[in-house]
Amino acid sequence: MKSDFMPLKIDIFKEAKTNQEMHFSVAVSSLPRVLEALPDPSSELGVSLFFGVDGDGQAYVDLNLKGTVQLMCQRCLAEMPFELSTCHRLIPVSESQVDSDLIGDGEPILIDASGLVDVVEMLEDELLLTLPMCPMHPLELCDLSFPESLPVVETEKTKKSFAGLADLLNKNSI
Ligand SMILES: [Zn+2]
Repeated sequence: MKSDFMPLKIDIFKEAKTNQEMHFSVAVSSLPRVLEALPDPSSELGVSLFFGVDGDGQAYVDLNLKGTVQLMCQRCLAEMPFELSTCHRLIPVSESQVDSDLIGDGEPILIDASGLVDVVEMLEDELLLTLPMCPMHPLELCDLSFPESLPVVETEKTKKSFAGLADLLNKNSI
């Protein structure tokens, strides 16, 4: 399978006419909107795009994402591997068409004024749709063990670190 560089933008209408395919890999670190959910940004995902036109003359792209990412278990806060394998048909729509029901089986993907799709946004949306909201190890694999009792000092510390987090969040939102 030949491997391409990741394009920044794609023209689904143009590629669909000649049934193009694209195969490339993307590092999670280049997808800013999913970084928060993924403790190991060095994971790489394989991306395959298959362009085509369906029986109704509608251009589409089949997006296929594959790979293993590390998520954070919401019970023990340790990393847990999550295997991804998605396949979705995306139908390019302009802003005025988003709410129309002409889309059929696919999921709408927004094109800009020049008819192009932003690849980073497309991959981020796909990942955000696919990743579990609250990932957890199966119980028997989870590391969680509660300490017998929490000394008062520890509780104080916890409060402080949350205060620190609040500061951080405030800074980030400016
Ligand atoms: Zn766990």
